[in-house]
Amino acid sequence: MPIYNAPTKDAQFVLHDVLNVSTSDIPGYNELEADFTGAVLEEAGKIASNVLHPLNVVGDKEGCRLENGIVYTPTGFKDAFEQMKAGGWTGLDMPEEYGGQNMPYVLATAVGEMFSATNQAFTMYQGLTHGAASAILAHGSEEQKNTYLPNMVSCEWTGTMNLTEPHCGTDLGLMRTKADPQADGSYKISGQKIFISAGEHDMADNIIHLVLAKIVGGPDGIKGVSLFIVPKYLVNEDGSLGERNGAAVGNIEEKMGIHGNSTCVMNYDEATGYLLGEEHKGMRAMFTMMNEARLGVGMQGLSQADAAYQNAVEYAKDRLQGRDVTGAKNPDGPADPLIVHPDIRRSLLDQKSFAEGGRAFILWGATLIDKAHREGDKDADGVISLLTPVIKGFLTDEGYDMTVKAQQVYGGHGYIEEWGMSQYTRDARIAMIYEGANGVQALDLVGRKLATDGGKHVMAFFEMVKSFCKENGGQDEAFDRDFIEPLKAASKDLQAAGMFFMQNAVKNPNEALAGSNDFMHMFGHVCLGLMWAQMALAARNALAGDASDKAFYEAKLITGRYYMARRLPATGMHLARIQSGAAPVMTLDADQF
Ligand SMILES: Cc1cc2nc3c(=O)[nH]c(=O)nc-3n(C[C@H](O)[C@H](O)[C@H](O)COP(=O)(O)OP(=O)(O)OC[C@H]3O[C@@H](n4cnc5c(N)ncnc54)[C@H](O)[C@@H]3O)c2cc1C
Repeated sequence: MPIYNAPTKDAQFVLHDVLNVSTSDIPGYNELEADFTGAVLEEAGKIASNVLHPLNVVGDKEGCRLENGIVYTPTGFKDAFEQMKAGGWTGLDMPEEYGGQNMPYVLATAVGEMFSATNQAFTMYQGLTHGAASAILAHGSEEQKNTYLPNMVSCEWTGTMNLTEPHCGTDLGLMRTKADPQADGSYKISGQKIFISAGEHDMADNIIHLVLAKIVGGPDGIKGVSLFIVPKYLVNEDGSLGERNGAAVGNIEEKMGIHGNSTCVMNYDEATGYLLGEEHKGMRAMFTMMNEARLGVGMQGLSQADAAYQNAVEYAKDRLQGRDVTGAKNPDGPADPLIVHPDIRRSLLDQKSFAEGGRAFILWGATLIDKAHREGDKDADGVISLLTPVIKGFLTDEGYDMTVKAQQVYGGHGYIEEWGMSQYTRDARIAMIYEGANGVQALDLVGRKLATDGGKHVMAFFEMVKSFCKENGGQDEAFDRDFIEPLKAASKDLQAAGMFFMQNAVKNPNEALAGSNDFMHMFGHVCLGLMWAQMALAARNALAGDASDKAFYEAKLITGRYYMARRLPATGMHLARIQSGAAPVMTLDADQF
């Protein structure tokens, strides 16, 4: 069975040495002393390693089962869900008035990485509930909040998000599900939704579906879409469960990965629904929580990559194949371990530098969300909105690639189910697709986010990089050479790409769209470059002081140098592709493909 070691030390390093959370003035952050976050992460790590991790393979092998309208989750999931509830893990960052613990989102994110790394399919039941509860929190009436939130925060009831239909996924304007207004103010919801994660299962007393539908007689297209609360069981005035609603699972999908999560066809047959937020503003209501939801999916990419990497390292130290060409490292054995070979080390360092850089990126993103939500900081909101497609698209594309690299370290054994490596690859794959496919993330970044507020937020990002380089450069030649200069060069590439779009896309938008995927990836590299420069600075400062664990900080510096030297220069390749314009992509006729 695969191993997992919760990355508590690394998360603590990012939280305290890099982001300095406990001295930040974001409301609630003063509670985040190192002892406190360390204790929470320690406990989360135990649940992740001891409860969720052993069930990962079980969920993969057994999958979910539909019998007579009931979806049965894999053996052990129900008990584990009870343990998550009993431990208060389901409402970590939810308001106290609804039973949550009101902790900052940054801490919930660090905890969430461990849960997702050890069992993505299982953690999605809770994650979807969190997303649905957040939408009710942001848009619900007092009555709706009081009716649904306490049970959703505790996960007595779980939640779902219903957007996709058979003929519409990305283009939700094509939606057909209808909402027929009733005299009592409710609606009758009719239509079919597909691919609904956690749409039906046996771990909760009730399931609160959030369903996008078009109110009969409303505007056409996306402007006519509204959001509805459609409970599986209607809720009586006293809070008890009432009659069964017309919402039922039609089927569950057989799929490539996340077998432990039920992916359902949901049929709504005149189901009673209650408007959430305003009429025809459904997309806005659904997307309020988009930054968080997409950051959560980006985290799935990172978490699968880290879990797969941990195993690849163990294997590379253990497996004896071939000799170090510069001299045997295991002269008494029949061969040297894989880890002596430069190509294996390259692969492992790609993975390590991605996982640690990605962790810092995600946690930094979470602080921006806290700043936006807890302080109402519009600038932080602007920057995280800009970075959201990068977090989602880059971290899941790369995260998947890293699970493939980890699998490759195992050679043929990586392809054999017994070793557990193929599950990481299969589970990581979905994160590139749901919550907006990655091609569409790139489109959102280039077509919308770059120009938001006149480009103010992308300028703020460049300014952040520039001031970091100014404040920390020119003091230490090696640091300048290894970190500041590569970061400046990559940031310059990114600016040049933005300039190319500005100069060419007005005439022909395809000049930008043909380069959107490259742009998203180069942006991701610059973000990780910035993270590595910040982490290297923190590590260097710790080494100059009286750090007890010198090996940890030295490894940070070495890994950071690797990222800057071997990964960050990818921005040059992406820039060249972008500057080749639309022609190489658009010239071939559709019938010539
Ligand atoms: C396991 C699983 C779980 C899911 N969970 C949920 C859930 O809980 N709730 C829910 O509502 N949905 C869910 N989905 C649906 C998922 O969000 C959609 O599959 C996804 O948004 C893509 O929609 P689609 O499959 O219709 O692809 P399409 O929209 O048909 O897109 C196909 C491809 O074309 C690209 N594309 C589309 N339009 C454009 C464009 N304008 N420009 C460039 N490229 C474009 C896309 O990037 C994609 O690669 C889930 C899907 C799966 C497989």
